[in-house]
Amino acid sequence: MTVHQAKGLEFGLVIVPHLVEGRFPASRRGEGLTLPDELLKEELPAAELHLAEERRLAYVAITRAREELVCTLAGRYEGVKDWRPSRFLTPIRGAEARELAAVSLLVPPAGGLVEVARQVELPLNDAPPIAALSYTQVDTYLRCPQMYQYRFVFRLPTRPKPQMQFGRILHEALKDALGSIERDKPLTWAMVDSAYVAAWARERFCAPEQAPSLQDLGRTYLRRAFDAGDLSKPLLLEQPFSLRVDGLRLTGRMDRVDRHPDGSYEVIDYKTGSAKRAADLQRDLQLGVYALAAREVFRFDPLSLSYYYLETSERVTVAKPKERLEDDRQTIVKVAEGIRAELFPARPDRMKCSGCDFRLLCPSAAV
Ligand code: SF4
Repeated sequence: MTVHQAKGLEFGLVIVPHLVEGRFPASRRGEGLTLPDELLKEELPAAELHLAEERRLAYVAITRAREELVCTLAGRYEGVKDWRPSRFLTPIRGAEARELAAVSLLVPPAGGLVEVARQVELPLNDAPPIAALSYTQVDTYLRCPQMYQYRFVFRLPTRPKPQMQFGRILHEALKDALGSIERDKPLTWAMVDSAYVAAWARERFCAPEQAPSLQDLGRTYLRRAFDAGDLSKPLLLEQPFSLRVDGLRLTGRMDRVDRHPDGSYEVIDYKTGSAKRAADLQRDLQLGVYALAAREVFRFDPLSLSYYYLETSERVTVAKPKERLEDDRQTIVKVAEGIRAELFPARPDRMKCSGCDFRLLCPSAAV
């Protein structure tokens, strides 16, 4: 039940979940209901009023317990964000909790999430109706519908992966460095490097032992791209888009869009993996999604699509003729139909399953 519903009630055991900053206390969303000025004894900034209300709610929640209170938190929920413990935990464990018989912080079970998930009957949630899909969701469904179900329907968290975090850090550094270019302030290596250092500082890296070598590697990538003159100011940077495909919104973000002197446009996506040949990318769905958005949402014409491989500073440009885009559109429609019909068959494959976050949970995993 919600804390509001628990007001005035008492229970032997109360479990208060999600004690992390941003959930409890929740982030402030909108202004909510406000009191007329004359009813306010003192003027508090809106953020403080929100926090005071959250604190009152936390007080209500923990004082519902007659005998035992269990507060839980996790470093990671769905997605890849790292969550910090709630500021309310300190007072809960201290003075305010003294009258309570027991206050315990739930330690994750030895088997972690897998043990918890095995004990509950799946599905954990009903499949939510879908109005929008991201490219990542489409790609996950195509790799294995069962994996899609675990990740996006049951919303089971995934483990951070060093390569993914490394890629995100490089994208962040490029976004900040390219975004800081101004007409009278061209990009210098110092600007790129400081954006890179700041991006590393913001990320809690999951494999600290690999961090020093990856830091050096990423700096080499950026330096090479900088020396090659590839870090110019783009027309658009991290451009979000929302494209209609068969009554569904397909959402995504373009790393950069360039406008060339001949008036043509180029959508460029940065990659940290090994370079592929243009011939092997003809059926690449991600580029198809960019092409559909570029043509139908932004009306970029003429248009080219490229992957920029940071490892080798190589730009691979791929042609996406109209008939191939139609195939890509049909692929997205089929994925949406499968999700709507709740078709989540497992597609085990030794390579795929070995890198799957859910392999210990999945009865079909190829081991
Ligand atoms: S373990 Fe294999 S079959 Fe199971 S969800 Fe993951 S990829 Fe799919």
